[in-house]
Amino acid sequence: MSERGLLIVLSGPSGVGKGTVRKALFESEGSSYEYSISMTTRQMRTGEVEGVDYFFRSKEEFEGLIDSGKMLEYAEYVNNYYGTPLDYVNQTLDEGKDVFLEIEVQGAMKVKEKMPDGVFIFLTPPDFTELKSRIVNRGTDDMSVIEERMKVARAEIEMMSHYDYAVVNDEVPLAVERIQKIIASEHCRVMRVIDTYEKMLKEF
Ligand code: 5GP
Repeated sequence: MSERGLLIVLSGPSGVGKGTVRKALFESEGSSYEYSISMTTRQMRTGEVEGVDYFFRSKEEFEGLIDSGKMLEYAEYVNNYYGTPLDYVNQTLDEGKDVFLEIEVQGAMKVKEKMPDGVFIFLTPPDFTELKSRIVNRGTDDMSVIEERMKVARAEIEMMSHYDYAVVNDEVPLAVERIQKIIASEHCRVMRVIDTYEKMLKEF
């Protein structure tokens, strides 16, 4: 039987560029992680595809899945639900594959409670001016949503201390490289490989 895969959680404040970094990471050579597609009740944006960017569901359907214990975590973020379907994560980890979540901070903290063995990476902005302009210039939300996102971002930055790693998103390729190095190192941690070595030792 293969070792269980690694659960990698990329989180950080709204507007920090989690989506961009995640996409660049998946496009980069040698990346072999399985992306857990989230579920959301928010409206589909232009260019988004069902089952690729998100599983877009109604509020009623989402609440039904919460009630039947089908979500690893979920969060209410700017009046919509976002969540991670549980079965996909467990099955993929059991197959020995690494699973990558890109989620906001409240959800990441819930995952940490349930799966403390995961690797929790906090993506940080190089400075706050840049973060503010990214939130304002995103161009897909009206003013009230932008203000709410700013408020949430401030509270989210304060959560950094609960993470294992802080990665600065100064330039996307550099952030990607840092994340790849973290994952490679995490695979070498003794606690993750000890079972395999103990099995090998028995036959030694
Ligand atoms: P957006 O509406 O811009 O696609 O995403 C808003 C926020 O929700 C982002 O910070 C994104 O990382 C987060 N998000 C996406 N999927 C999930 C999820 O499954 N769970 C949680 N908790 N947050 C998510």
